[in-house]
Amino acid sequence: MTTIFTKIINREIPSHIIYEDKNHLAFLDISPFEKGHTLVIPKKEYKTIFEIPEDEFLELMKVVKKVAEHVEKTLNCGINIWQNNKEISGQEVPHIHFHVVPRLS
Ligand code: 5GP
Repeated sequence: MTTIFTKIINREIPSHIIYEDKNHLAFLDISPFEKGHTLVIPKKEYKTIFEIPEDEFLELMKVVKKVAEHVEKTLNCGINIWQNNKEISGQEVPHIHFHVVPRLS
């Protein structure tokens, strides 16, 4: 399912991108829980952890770690990592993503 995140990947709508490689993108959340709140996504459109193949999930996790380390170093903060699957859990955008959330206070 195509979502707003595919539009971000394709630069059809603007975002503040902080990391990109061939298969992944990380960009600032438009409605951050805390300054620096970043979303990490695969470029392929998988809805949840139940659709993404395991090898691609593991690659995504490597990027989550890399982004979390960058945010921690930049802001000298703690980090929460959140990930919702299905609307009932709070997932608003049906394109798998990890929230990397700085904790400063
Ligand atoms: P979910 O609730 O699906 O786990 O999180 C979706 C996140 O995407 C929310 O934190 C929301 O603020 C963010 N979001 C929704 N639309 C946009 C957008 O157009 N641009 C950006 N940068 N973030 C978005």
